[in-house]
Amino acid sequence: MSEDLFLKIVAREIPADIVYENDDVLAFRDLNPQAPIHLLIIPKKKTRTINDMQEQDAALFGKLFLAAKEIAVGMGVAEEGYRVVMNCNAAAGQTVFHVHLHFLAGRQFSWPPG
Ligand code: AMP
Repeated sequence: MSEDLFLKIVAREIPADIVYENDDVLAFRDLNPQAPIHLLIIPKKKTRTINDMQEQDAALFGKLFLAAKEIAVGMGVAEEGYRVVMNCNAAAGQTVFHVHLHFLAGRQFSWPPG
């Protein structure tokens, strides 16, 4: 068993409501949604935080955004809009240490975020 919670979801060791998958990326619904649509888009490759990203993985992390675009079109929210957020370490509120892009849609968002 992996110690990385989100890798356990990739390996189907724990359940999740998976909405999108390709060779490099998985997306599933957040357990504690902050919007009508709240997904987490993750790389299948273990990476703890943005600080651990390497130059050679630039294309991989770019694929998180391409997945967001594809999901937005598929869920019909591309035109009305959506927000993607990635928290890094404690000050930003990161609680799960496997890189994940929050995908939020279905309501009006304010700025600046809290
Ligand atoms: P962050 O605070 O940016 O690290 O976000 C972690 C997110 O993971 C939170 O929004 C949690 O609700 C969510 N989360 C934690 N465990 C699970 C899980 N097993 N399945 C789906 N979402 C989860």
